[in-house]
Amino acid sequence: MRTVHSLKELRTILRGYRQQGKTIGLVPTMGNLHEGHISLVRKAAESADVVVTSIFVNPMQFGAHEDLDKYPRTLAEDQEKLAEAGNTLVFAPPVEEVYPEGLARQTKVVVPEVSEGHCGASRPGHFEGVATVVTMLFNMVQPDLAVFGEKDFQQLAVIRKLVRDLRIPVEIIGAPTVREDDGLAKSSRNGYLSETERRIAPRLYQIMRETADRIQQGRTDYPALEQEASAALAEAGFRPDYVNIVNSVTLKPAAPDDPEITLLVAAFLGTTRLIDNLSLTR
Ligand code: AMP
Repeated sequence: MRTVHSLKELRTILRGYRQQGKTIGLVPTMGNLHEGHISLVRKAAESADVVVTSIFVNPMQFGAHEDLDKYPRTLAEDQEKLAEAGNTLVFAPPVEEVYPEGLARQTKVVVPEVSEGHCGASRPGHFEGVATVVTMLFNMVQPDLAVFGEKDFQQLAVIRKLVRDLRIPVEIIGAPTVREDDGLAKSSRNGYLSETERRIAPRLYQIMRETADRIQQGRTDYPALEQEASAALAEAGFRPDYVNIVNSVTLKPAAPDDPEITLLVAAFLGTTRLIDNLSLTR
């Protein structure tokens, strides 16, 4: 498995694969890979001849007071895991390769509506950063398909819309969330949790499951259910950021007769912000 850091080298290698008639799958990541990321690589390898995993901690999607500097960078370990998973090529560009003129002078991609609310409201500019870097990665790699985790539910919706709106010829594949045995969604940010916080963390998914059960039992008073889940999170030791029960397609507040519903949750444990989601059919 090769690792390249420059766009020029990436393009030269990919041109070779394309000339051989090989299809290309892309898995964009910020590195510090866990089994969630690896599941995306395996999924890409099922449908594409060549899998390119990008590792880039994208400064544009971090807010001023977020964890850009302390975000874990573990390239050597990541390379080992990717080689085992059947990845073909790692693209790990330095920041200057992606944003040679700096962030302020970079052309940006704005995806309206689905970017608004939820994480878009809590993290202004975040989805602009995601949409911009993902569009650039699509142009750099020109993949036939790209795999993203449902763990970042709103992000997946943003990417589906940008591909549709900008007519980018790439198939977007969503992959289910990989969890720890106790239900906590795997995340690079779980490494920030203290021992005590780590013991509390699985309550997030449990509370979501309890809320989903109530909906399955027929409750449609969604604002009250959101309040109850929020109170349960606070009781468990979280500082809830949002608990939103939404229409799975529009991500707008769910109506009582919507059949496809998703719970979107973000909550802080200490300074660590965890997100998770759960979809159900009524
Ligand atoms: P990140 O490195 O956090 O930017 O994530 C890169 C990709 O991995 C995104 O498509 C995420 O949705 C996906 N991902 C992150 N955590 C998980 C997980 N626990 N299960 C499945 N996919 C995940």
